[in-house]
Amino acid sequence: MDPERLILEFQNLLYIESPSKKEGKLAHYIADIFEALGFKCFFDKSAENTGSEVGNLIVKIPGTLPSEPLFFCAHLDTVGPCENPTIIYENGIFRTDGKTILGADDKAGIAILIEIAKVLKENYFPYPPLEFVFTTCEEIGLLGAKYLDLELLDAKEGLVLDSKSPQVIINGAPSSFKFSIETKGKSAHAGIEPEKGINAIYLLAKILAELPTGRVDEETTMNLGKISGGMYLNIVPDLALAEGEMRSHSQEKLGTLQSLIQSKAQEIIDSYPVKLEGLPSFTVKFKKIFQAFYLPPSDALCQLVQRAGQRLGWEMTFKRHEGGSDANIFNEKGLKSLILGTGMQKVHTTEEFIEVKDLIKATQLVLEIIKLKGELS
Ligand SMILES: [Zn+2]
Repeated sequence: MDPERLILEFQNLLYIESPSKKEGKLAHYIADIFEALGFKCFFDKSAENTGSEVGNLIVKIPGTLPSEPLFFCAHLDTVGPCENPTIIYENGIFRTDGKTILGADDKAGIAILIEIAKVLKENYFPYPPLEFVFTTCEEIGLLGAKYLDLELLDAKEGLVLDSKSPQVIINGAPSSFKFSIETKGKSAHAGIEPEKGINAIYLLAKILAELPTGRVDEETTMNLGKISGGMYLNIVPDLALAEGEMRSHSQEKLGTLQSLIQSKAQEIIDSYPVKLEGLPSFTVKFKKIFQAFYLPPSDALCQLVQRAGQRLGWEMTFKRHEGGSDANIFNEKGLKSLILGTGMQKVHTTEEFIEVKDLIKATQLVLEIIKLKGELS
């Protein structure tokens, strides 16, 4: 590999803004690079569902070995603020002036795959068929991955480049659900005839006070994130809404939390002393955002990555993630996936940075995985 070339390309990518749904410019920039190298590029039709200006980009790299294909994935979009970034490269570290995010999440992953494609083109070692998947709208609910056209993929397993340390293999992540609790009361003039009203905010507050928040246990969290309700100070509010999310590595614990929300809401509403035309009432809704996954370190894909790292002389460790990523969606769809680190740090903040030595290490690891996969075929 060529570290100088990698760094230069990474820097180019950082200047191409790609907030969620506006990944078009970046996607076409990348596709042009792969096409110039002679690799076929496809865009799927996911844009119809994601609302992005472009579909997911899939790049096919035919192998020189008759092996099972392996995919690598990086997402195209970044969080904000990302307008007109000022990129600073000093002492081997990329960061911004603090006004925008850097976007190493996930342009580090993209830069690695571009460098890998160039290395494969100019070196004569045998390698398996590869598929590079560049997804849109990862940051707004893993939408690109959700609507990825699997018909365009031959690989059944792969690696998502979307974590921090190149020496840490992420082999598990939690499930996540969002939820809402709505209470319905009755409006009335708050000063003249409050007894004709039922205060929806008061009822909602009583329900919320019964629920856990923050870290529920070592593998479960719950957050009440948004609240709304009421119109005027002198009206008894008839509607109140709270929204939140919960995550756990255990599906069962999420089920228990959901039952708790349901039963506490029922209890508070039932204990209200007055009933007026079926009021008060409540509605609780749950929606899955992503599904948990876990691959044991003994799994062949875990072994492949661990051995590749060891061949580079590194100590590799396995860790479970607390966030969701495209790997959650791929595993749910039957594409076995792990998450690899690219070196990015403090992501989703304006202090985001990456040390170039980590970016280089991550590229070396990907290259070693490809070589090892070839040797094992
Ligand atoms: Zn990311």
